[in-house]
Amino acid sequence: MYLSPQQSRALYEQAVREHFAILAINADSPAAIVDALEAAKAVDAPVIIESSLWQLSSHTFGHGDAVLGLQRFAGMVQQYADSEAYKDVPVIYHTDHIKGPQTIDILKPAIQGIERSGASNFQASSISLDSSELSADENIALISHLCTFAQESECALTLEMEAGVDDGLTSVEEARYLLESVEKAHPGYLVLWAPGVGTQHGYSEDGFPGFSTEQVSKQQGLASEICGRDMGLVLHGSSGLCDEQLAAAVHAGVIKVNWSTDSLACRSAAAAAYYKNHSAELERSNAAFKQTAMDNGLQTAVAEAYRPVVEERMGVLNSHGKGASFCKLEVMECRS
Ligand SMILES: [Zn+2]
Repeated sequence: MYLSPQQSRALYEQAVREHFAILAINADSPAAIVDALEAAKAVDAPVIIESSLWQLSSHTFGHGDAVLGLQRFAGMVQQYADSEAYKDVPVIYHTDHIKGPQTIDILKPAIQGIERSGASNFQASSISLDSSELSADENIALISHLCTFAQESECALTLEMEAGVDDGLTSVEEARYLLESVEKAHPGYLVLWAPGVGTQHGYSEDGFPGFSTEQVSKQQGLASEICGRDMGLVLHGSSGLCDEQLAAAVHAGVIKVNWSTDSLACRSAAAAAYYKNHSAELERSNAAFKQTAMDNGLQTAVAEAYRPVVEERMGVLNSHGKGASFCKLEVMECRS
């Protein structure tokens, strides 16, 4: 079930109330999208599938054209999510790490939706942009621009705002400045808050000694106080944390866990093993050449290694069993 911005908000609010987090998989290929959906279905969990600028403009999706990439990526997620197979899986499509001069050009159609012939209009379920190269005022200006656009075009918008996620612990003063500036001018759009909590994007052999669940808890309380409603925290750079730290982060108020580096590591290791173990079949004279060389052979092997890892991680985030019940309620309430 592909979730609208309003439905995504309802799911995020439920996650805050019930202390679970939704795994946000930075999906790098159509096969990764399918594997994410299959894993979520197997454990009855909701799932967030997100794309960064580099996926949207990648060879597979936009081939250099990020706006076309958005259309193809979101369209693919929606087509799968709305199919019979995944009608009981709450599926959020989130725009993650959009940055640079094209930011607004990419995010406007994501907010407004893109009309496609013969298919329904789709909108991204929730939106964020990459603030890592922005000043606080530039971050506020861009987020405000998106809120104004949503208001003028009468579109629902469910927003994540971030602040220096790789730069150590975000201060109370900075958090207050960012959140208050947006919330006062454009009340109600912010739903997710991604401050620095001591993690970093990428892999760290030593983990993240600076990671602080006290910071998670403090920032969650602060954001909720400023916005006057329950705000959920987003964890970027989760790949260096152990299961115990992840579970503690969820208990402290994290409701969205972005997952990219470890996901890529798992898929690429499975692919490397597949080619190594099937080198004989990859000779053209071998009877099994075609089924081994075709994309389906590789992707089936990757899926077998990848899905159990995703399912286990969803369990660490306490999201098993939260899927179908949400979809049934949404069908009854017809929130779209
Ligand atoms: Zn991130």
